[in-house]
Amino acid sequence: MLVLKFGGTSVGSIENMNNVRSIINDGTQKIVVLSAMSGTTNALVEISEQLNAGDRDNALELIEELLVKYAQVIEDLLQNKQLKEEVSKYVLSVYETLIEQTKSKYNELVHNTIVAQGELLSTFIFSRFLIQEGINAVLLPALDFMRVDQQHEPDSFYIQQNLNRIIDDNQQADIYITQGFICLDVQGQISNLQRGGSDYTASIIGAAIQAEEVQIWTDIDGFHNNDPRYVENTTAIQKISFDEAAELAYFGAKICIHKPLCRLEI
Ligand code: ASP
Ligand code: MG
Repeated sequence: MLVLKFGGTSVGSIENMNNVRSIINDGTQKIVVLSAMSGTTNALVEISEQLNAGDRDNALELIEELLVKYAQVIEDLLQNKQLKEEVSKYVLSVYETLIEQTKSKYNELVHNTIVAQGELLSTFIFSRFLIQEGINAVLLPALDFMRVDQQHEPDSFYIQQNLNRIIDDNQQADIYITQGFICLDVQGQISNLQRGGSDYTASIIGAAIQAEEVQIWTDIDGFHNNDPRYVENTTAIQKISFDEAAELAYFGAKICIHKPLCRLEI
């Protein structure tokens, strides 16, 4: 089985979600790990910070903004009435969870509950989108198998046992969708693998199911001649030797080999 991870921008627009759909829909069974839609985790962190600072009104405003954004996503992405209703209900339940957090005494659990909502939203929405498009997709809740131990390291035995059982129970699916980033802590409370943790989720899953391959996809048009985060006007290199690519990867570059989304093989 393959494990493919797609980041926030890959599920951040209808066009990109369609790209992901065509990449994953090739008839082979796979697990797809998703991040939150781009901007969502930052918005959730901001909500949490406002609450921590005691500014509930501001937090509520940010929650409303997020709801508006997702209402638009649903509108643009889903035409099937039943699926649209199902997703709307789910978004509403996330909204209620967030509102509930604004009424609780602020602590780490409140923070972790808030920041987890991004991956819960993206995976729910994307799985229903795949179903609308006639793809046999099943959502595997990460909180049913992803857990860390006392040292906040992945509890490999627990993950392996539970994930394989859940996959066995859902053998009929072609595509399993699950959340990156989120997990349970040793007390069984919602936690996460730190910012950017979805790549880590994909690797943990890959190890647990002994996947043939773990692919980390990102949305750049190829291997660039410099790091676009630091240098302006970089361009994609047309041809590069494997050795050169491997050398650059060793020094931290991402290997990008597919258009329009690219993938980093690890
Ligand atoms: N959504 C989380 C973040 O923004 C995890 C991830 O994207 O990997 O940090
Ligand atoms: Mg990332």
